[in-house]
Amino acid sequence: MATQADAQELAALRALSARIGGNPHLTQAAGGNTSLKAGDTLWIKASGTWLKDALSEDIMVPVAMVPLIEAVERRDPAADKPQAFAIDALNPRGLRPSIETTVHALMPRRVVLHVHCVDTISLAVQADCESEVARRLEGIAWAYVPYRRPGLPLAQGIAERLRPGIDVLILGNHGLVVAAETVAEAEHLLHRVRSLLARPARAAAEPDAAALTALAGDSGYRLPAEVEAHAVALDAASRRMAEAGSLYPDHVIFLGQGSVVARPGEQVDDVTARLGVSPAAILFPGAGVLMRGDASSGADAMQRCLADVTARIDISARLNYLTAAENDELINWDAEQYRQKLNAAG
Ligand SMILES: [Zn+2]
Repeated sequence: MATQADAQELAALRALSARIGGNPHLTQAAGGNTSLKAGDTLWIKASGTWLKDALSEDIMVPVAMVPLIEAVERRDPAADKPQAFAIDALNPRGLRPSIETTVHALMPRRVVLHVHCVDTISLAVQADCESEVARRLEGIAWAYVPYRRPGLPLAQGIAERLRPGIDVLILGNHGLVVAAETVAEAEHLLHRVRSLLARPARAAAEPDAAALTALAGDSGYRLPAEVEAHAVALDAASRRMAEAGSLYPDHVIFLGQGSVVARPGEQVDDVTARLGVSPAAILFPGAGVLMRGDASSGADAMQRCLADVTARIDISARLNYLTAAENDELINWDAEQYRQKLNAAG
């Protein structure tokens, strides 16, 4: 840490990170990340850690920023492994910097917040995202970045769209980035953008816990950790959107490709027999959601996120889904397998 002022801002960022991490409408599980530039060092959330733990655990990793930006500029694959740029002397836990470190390094402001804001994602999956956001963020300098895999491809997508003065990025099928010179300004901008993008959720019926318990039988499937998760199975429009494919990367990472909906009359055992696998979650129309018994806390958080996102999407909008190749590159990505492993251990 270069100066006392930097140390104070890092403390303020940790407090803000914990607040962001505690709000499921801003970030879920190990998703989202925050950073502070102190001289040539970028302090960034570690991969696989949860923002909500920012005050109780050491989750920030120092990264040498200049060589990392140079690697992005020359399209060096090394930029896709930000752990190679971690400053070992200041990283006693040996944590890996976030997969999205390059996003933060490219934004010139000192403080960068990247969140998987439910209101943003619900717009970022609509084919008309750019025009819808333009209408809502009038007067704010922002840019739309079409979907790319997080890591070097996304960093290059951002570099193509970034212009001086742009402090807000809407990442297609992914989320929101805001940047400012101080932690307080960044928090203010985050909430301003979020409130401008906010849409009400469609109301859903109550889940039927007794019916779900009967459908689970002795399959080992269980109710979700959060009651909000059920809404995606209870609202017909949300269910249709979920069943049609994967809308954003962390869904694929934590829950697999798309969503599985039970057919009329099917119990859990019928669904797993039909598919030949046991999906992390099964949607039962009119009843609610069941989670596989060993599903991680991250999977539960992402199942709730899916309900929160789909409930806000315009039911008449055309949606962009991740392609089969985009699903595959997420599932087979070793950086994500590392994050999954930490999540399972946690
Ligand atoms: Zn992200």
